Amino acid sequence: MSVNRENYLLIKEELLPYKASLVAVSKTKPASDIQELMQLGQKDFGENYVQELSEKQEQLKRNCNWHFIGHLQSNKVKTIIPYVHLIHGVDSYKLLKEINKQAKSTNRIVDCLLQIHIASEETKFGFDEQEAEALLLFPELSELENIRLRGIMGMATNTEDQSKIKSEFNQLKNIFDNCKIMSFEPEAFDTLSMGMTSDYKIALDCGSTMVRIGSAIFGERN
Ligand SMILES: *Cc1c(COP(=O)(O)O)cnc(C)c1O
Repeated sequence: MSVNRENYLLIKEELLPYKASLVAVSKTKPASDIQELMQLGQKDFGENYVQELSEKQEQLKRNCNWHFIGHLQSNKVKTIIPYVHLIHGVDSYKLLKEINKQAKSTNRIVDCLLQIHIASEETKFGFDEQEAEALLLFPELSELENIRLRGIMGMATNTEDQSKIKSEFNQLKNIFDNCKIMSFEPEAFDTLSMGMTSDYKIALDCGSTMVRIGSAIFGERN
């Protein structure tokens, strides 16, 4: 139940030469685990479910950076807007518009990543490369003044095949570079969120700037 400090410190070390940041994925884990990690200096935490995130936010009421990394439904946007730090899973223009609307009503500018679908599994959400690029060229995009596109998020196929994972992360890096050039604010488009417990080392070698790690730090989830 408690945090694996050794792994945490090791991962922090491994990230240094890459200048990559760590989102500690705390889904299904108790607020006490988050507190324990905060005491070691961790600020960024990732959650997948709106209900769970809002409960933890209530309990902790402290200055951690909440990353929403799950599939976000439009009707739940409002709940997390007041405190969310970065929304990783934007997978439609409709969702982006809703985030903008809610952000506007709370007077915030909310950072977002476009989720890119690259893995073989059908269940993973996201844009393909053409859709993401088309979105970036939408003239209406510049009217969404309360969102800021910071980059992309992606997941590799859940497989043992390291070369497949590597090729998918390379593809994501390519898409990231292309999207950055096309984006409205290229300097702000600086985040490539990829890599989890099983594949973060490969992701770092392929250019990840942000890894999302859960089980290596908090232990296996049930
Ligand atoms: C759960 C989850 C993670 C963390 O997975 P681990 O394998 O436990 O590191 C990362 N990203 C997303 C989108 C997740 O849903």
